[in-house]
Amino acid sequence: MAQTDYYEVLGVNRQDSEEEIRRAFRKKAMEYHPDRNKEPDAEEKFKEINEAYQVLSDSSKRAQYDRFGRAGVNGGGFDRPFDGFDVFGGFGDIFDSFFGEAGGRRSRAPQRGSDLQQRVTLEFEDAAFGIEREIDVSRVEICHQCSGAGNEPGTPINTCETCGGNGQVRRTQRSVFGQFAQVATCPACQGKGSTIENPCGGCRGAGMERRNRKTVVNIPAGIQDGMQVRLTGEGNVGANGGPPGNLYIQVEVRPHRVFERDDYDLLYVLPLNLAEAALGVEKLVPTLEGEDTSLKIPGGTQHGSEFRIRGKGIKHVQNGRKGDLRVYADVQVPKKLSSSQRKLLEELARSFDPSFGQHEAERDQESASVEDPAHQRLDAEGDPWDEDETGDSSVKEKGIFDRIKDVLS
Ligand SMILES: [Zn+2]
Ligand SMILES: [Zn+2]
Repeated sequence: MAQTDYYEVLGVNRQDSEEEIRRAFRKKAMEYHPDRNKEPDAEEKFKEINEAYQVLSDSSKRAQYDRFGRAGVNGGGFDRPFDGFDVFGGFGDIFDSFFGEAGGRRSRAPQRGSDLQQRVTLEFEDAAFGIEREIDVSRVEICHQCSGAGNEPGTPINTCETCGGNGQVRRTQRSVFGQFAQVATCPACQGKGSTIENPCGGCRGAGMERRNRKTVVNIPAGIQDGMQVRLTGEGNVGANGGPPGNLYIQVEVRPHRVFERDDYDLLYVLPLNLAEAALGVEKLVPTLEGEDTSLKIPGGTQHGSEFRIRGKGIKHVQNGRKGDLRVYADVQVPKKLSSSQRKLLEELARSFDPSFGQHEAERDQESASVEDPAHQRLDAEGDPWDEDETGDSSVKEKGIFDRIKDVLS
């Protein structure tokens, strides 16, 4: 056999991972498999590839090889020399990947169970405050009758006669280059190495069964729509004693009647009438906890203005810190007016600066010396509705707005 470097044989680097080496081996082995490759040196190459893989896929052999070269791995020190079984064990793997059959050794190796997913729909408050939820899960578990062995309890499990218990059979194939052994999963026991005379009535010999379980899920406070909760080990049980997969609870959150959510802030739209927005008002705002909180709306509040009530939002799902309640002013212009409302608004309209509506810069220039034109004009003209009240201009102005407010609300 040629004394080429094992790494070179597989076309990998010395620092490549086991996985990279395995992938390189599969590719090379398929390329040089004598059944597929009719080049005269294919068989020799194929053996070399297998030999290289035997060493490099075993971490201790690989370490020896790295330190001492071939002398380190061929000069004894191993339990046993390369034998056909080992060499072709890798080969069996290739066929598994080709034909998708559960192959010899692998079918007996413990496999991790698959993950499960389940959707849960929560009310807005439940997501904000957290809740315990009982859910129904259909999952694969170890058969409770046979405890996974697959036999009817009390009946024997025999060593497979076809494969002698190792789960694989060797087939010898003749080709022009000589004989080739191929390892395949034992057809009699499907690789289990044993046969059952009386299969378990609960699982028909599979050792696993599907069961419906009630599982309690702790939904943490602050969870958001689209997040998922992982329940480790609550998925399907693994084959051949492998660990179970996880159960993932996908959370869907129903919208709230009055609140919206922006991460951990609550959003609330507060309707204000013209007078309230202009004069200012103290309003009660609902909170998610249920108790109203009061909010001072200053005079001159514009439509869309934001007011932040700290700490009245939603608890952060991780750090527990609470977001804010953000209140947006929705200044509503009345669509219908009673005759008294109309009169009041007409009066108000007359009191406004006639330059209103001009470009702001122009207006600023004109009224540069006047602090509040509306105020001043009202002062000068007087207020017919307020004749019998004091002469204080601010009271007069308020009188109009207050009466508008009274009729509007
Ligand atoms: Zn069973
Ligand atoms: Zn068998």
